[in-house]
Amino acid sequence: MVFELTGNGSTCGGRPTGIKGAKVKVKKIEQQDFREKSYWLTTRHYTPNENLKGEVTCDVAVIGGGFTGLSSAYFLKKAQPEIDVALLEGQVIGFGASGRNAGFSMTKFGLIHSITAFRFGNQKTVEAHEYTCRAVDLLRDLVTTLDLDCDYQHTGFLEVSTCKVHQKRLAREFEFVTKKLGLKDIFWIDEQELQSRVASPLYEGGAWWEPRCGILNPAKLAWSWKEVIEPLGVRVFENSPLIEIAREGGRFRLVTPEGHVRANKVVLATNAWSSLFAKLKRKQVPVWTYIVLTEPLNERQHEEIGWQGREGIEDFRDLVHYYRLTADNRIVLGGRDVDITFGYDVPAAKDQNPKVFDGLKSDLLQVFPSLQGIAFTHQWGGPVSVPLDMAPAMGYAGGKDLVYSLGCMGHAVSLTHLNGMTIADLVLERDTELTRTFFVNRRVIPYPPEPFRTATAKAIAGYMRWDDGRHDKFSMK
Ligand SMILES: Cc1cc2nc3c(=O)[nH]c(=O)nc-3n(C[C@H](O)[C@H](O)[C@H](O)COP(=O)(O)OP(=O)(O)OC[C@H]3O[C@@H](n4cnc5c(N)ncnc54)[C@H](O)[C@@H]3O)c2cc1C
Repeated sequence: MVFELTGNGSTCGGRPTGIKGAKVKVKKIEQQDFREKSYWLTTRHYTPNENLKGEVTCDVAVIGGGFTGLSSAYFLKKAQPEIDVALLEGQVIGFGASGRNAGFSMTKFGLIHSITAFRFGNQKTVEAHEYTCRAVDLLRDLVTTLDLDCDYQHTGFLEVSTCKVHQKRLAREFEFVTKKLGLKDIFWIDEQELQSRVASPLYEGGAWWEPRCGILNPAKLAWSWKEVIEPLGVRVFENSPLIEIAREGGRFRLVTPEGHVRANKVVLATNAWSSLFAKLKRKQVPVWTYIVLTEPLNERQHEEIGWQGREGIEDFRDLVHYYRLTADNRIVLGGRDVDITFGYDVPAAKDQNPKVFDGLKSDLLQVFPSLQGIAFTHQWGGPVSVPLDMAPAMGYAGGKDLVYSLGCMGHAVSLTHLNGMTIADLVLERDTELTRTFFVNRRVIPYPPEPFRTATAKAIAGYMRWDDGRHDKFSMK
């Protein structure tokens, strides 16, 4: 599906909104079976809400029912209970990356700290880290105080290396964050301690250890959010894709296949789908990352690999592997390679990638050879939003009545939750510590127009693939 906001005839807050009349281009909308999109989306009974029919009016319309949209709606209602909020989700709550991710609640911002520092400088990298630490703590507190049913476990996070070059790079990165940036909450564990936690013949040397982080079931979390925001008065419409947006009499008119919403303000919480909006289309590209899932480990298999602390683990490749245990002791393993599409659509066909799935399955046996013969039960993928400078961005899309969020890459389960609070402040036009964060209303370096946009993204991924292939022991298939 593609729709475009064309022209920039109207203004708000003195700046063009990019929306004029009802000039909208609409492409076919692909409705999909959400239970096929990830294992997590099958782990609980879920009944989607009715789609939008007829006319609805509200103060704020939130587009997108992932963590960003859900938490924005929540924090808007917490800040101003009388505010009337409607949330439109094109498929079902948690259909996007929020219901498909690996469920790491972690402090990564974009990629690694040194890349953030290269782009934004050391001071802003420290600021980004403080923001993500606050996000991780916030999510943990919300899970407890709101009793969000999501199998949250406070396991901590390990960053490991699988070859000598990566061990050197990881140690250098650790030196950089602890000595140069002065971050206090990241620790180093030696080889012996690492192996006593998680036994793998592939691990090289010691590891990065962050006790602050946790793991959870992301689809359960997204669906629990719906159960929290509806009693607060948020109206949630599912299977209600926004297909047209226009301005009428100083308000927005948001059209879905069977209805429309009149709203004073709009939040575009569409992340990887943001390229469907003309105003945002060159700020990011959707990039697909993939996951495979094993059957539950038996006691012997689990004992052989250790991992009693159930830590979330990433390796230090450019195209990382990420893995963890589920509540019933399956291994979720994702990463290895990514895929990119040409043009501004977000095709569902990209959610499957047999080549990457096969690679991940053989990679798991390199990390844990004792699991030879284990069965894989699920495989899936999903799009994340990747700006050219690999960092999140949010702010006003022109006028102060249109707020956007994108650039939530493979590390934004918790970040999106604090972003929801920041977005609420932006909608309410509050000048707060959060809205003054450097990546709010930042200049996002645009990708060039197609075909160079895809070529640029593919070149970056190609470089990472080549660099990984030079050093590590995973034979790239
Ligand atoms: C396979 C995978 C593994 C990942 N692992 C991790 C991890 O372990 N830890 C971590 O921190 N991050 C991880 N991430 C990233 C994380 O999931 C995302 O950064 C985060 O979920 C983004 O949330 P969001 O709400 O901004 O976007 P999304 O969850 O993608 O939500 C956007 C929503 O907008 C809806 N939408 C789009 N267009 C329209 C429209 N026209 N009308 C109405 N609705 C629309 C979509 O259907 C979708 O539900 C992973 C991502 C993937 C794909």
